[in-house]
Amino acid sequence: MFENEIIIIGGGLSGLTAAYLLAKQGKSVLVIEKKAYPFHRVCGEYVSNEVRDFLIKEGLFPFEHFPASINHFRLSAVNGEAADFPLELGGFGISRFVLDHHFYQKCLEAGVKFLQKTQVTDVQFLPKNQHFRVETSDGTLLPASYVLGAYGKRSKIDKKLNRNFAQQRSPYIGVKYHIQTDGQEDHVVSLHNYSGGYLGINKIENGHFNLCYLGSRAQLRDAGSIGAMEEKYLFANPLIREIFEKAHFLWDRPEVINEISFATKTPVENNILMLGDAAGMITPLCGNGMAIAIHTGKLAADSFLKHSKLGDIQKAYQKEWKAFFQTRLRLGRNVQKLFGAPMVSSLAVNLLKNSSFLSRKLIRQTHGDPIR
Ligand SMILES: Cc1cc2nc3c(=O)[nH]c(=O)nc-3n(C[C@H](O)[C@H](O)[C@H](O)COP(=O)(O)OP(=O)(O)OC[C@H]3O[C@@H](n4cnc5c(N)ncnc54)[C@H](O)[C@@H]3O)c2cc1C
Repeated sequence: MFENEIIIIGGGLSGLTAAYLLAKQGKSVLVIEKKAYPFHRVCGEYVSNEVRDFLIKEGLFPFEHFPASINHFRLSAVNGEAADFPLELGGFGISRFVLDHHFYQKCLEAGVKFLQKTQVTDVQFLPKNQHFRVETSDGTLLPASYVLGAYGKRSKIDKKLNRNFAQQRSPYIGVKYHIQTDGQEDHVVSLHNYSGGYLGINKIENGHFNLCYLGSRAQLRDAGSIGAMEEKYLFANPLIREIFEKAHFLWDRPEVINEISFATKTPVENNILMLGDAAGMITPLCGNGMAIAIHTGKLAADSFLKHSKLGDIQKAYQKEWKAFFQTRLRLGRNVQKLFGAPMVSSLAVNLLKNSSFLSRKLIRQTHGDPIR
């Protein structure tokens, strides 16, 4: 057996969940993360309560950081027309800076080893020896019996693995701020459309709010800067303008990412179990990418704990992944198409406003049942 039986590439919520559960059962786990905790990342920071009971049961729920409790949803169309709905399941708001660091500390307590500020550049499966060889940015080669890919929506490794989506560019960008404001209610997560994208706002810890939007690379190029793009495109929705006018921005500049792809992916690639966004990303407007990431981490750990042969582990994971996420991700891709287009989003808001059955059904279909 190797020093590291299982190597996990990427220490976001999917990788950290799997690492924690596996280490608690006595497995030797190494997480390789290209950044160093704690750090900010672009995310709306609304966590669906699908995972609340599971996190409490596993001792992972961040009670000590007092996440905001959220039970109401507001949706506005490009023209500012808005509809409100209660959220049956609801969620909690907490920054990734705090939440990922909290998971990281729990992993350390469980005995997980970490290589931080280290990027994985290649992974090879050696069929003859039935093991993996993981290469890092400093040229080190690390052997492992199993490898989990938990490296998020897109990484250099995807190109190495010849994954289809990695050959194409994505039109989306993500922008995130933390703000203070007295213009928002504590228990509401709002999603405001504008022509070309949508913006979410919800409370997190310390009385702060997360302000995050999914925008268009083409609009940024056209406007020339983030500020000019916001002025030209986002502020056409009067509710977005009002949020910006009332906000006290806590950072000098926002966190920005590009290459956000909702393309179809596969949960096992080159014998590597893919977790979270690396297996498929749900549109942020569904507000449950983090819950899915945590759930995939649990499913991967369950597969390892139930089986010992690589083929059996893969089959078990693939089956569970498809059962839980395939339809949700497909629906999420279709819902994504409704947003950002002026006509359609106004129609969608009106339709949902007038049909509590439809709005409940849509929210329920893109969300899962609470996981145990
Ligand atoms: C604009 C936007 C808003 C969102 N809002 C929400 C929301 O409100 N609620 C919600 O539930 N979800 C939201 N999501 C989705 C959510 O952020 C993701 O689904 C979730 O973070 C996926 O977790 P993960 O573990 O798969 O990946 P990540 O959290 O992205 O973690 C991947 C990790 O891998 C590391 N890594 C990458 N490549 C390598 C490498 N080669 N070597 C070593 N390390 C590597 C990265 O540094 C990173 O730490 C949003 C996403 C976007 C883009």
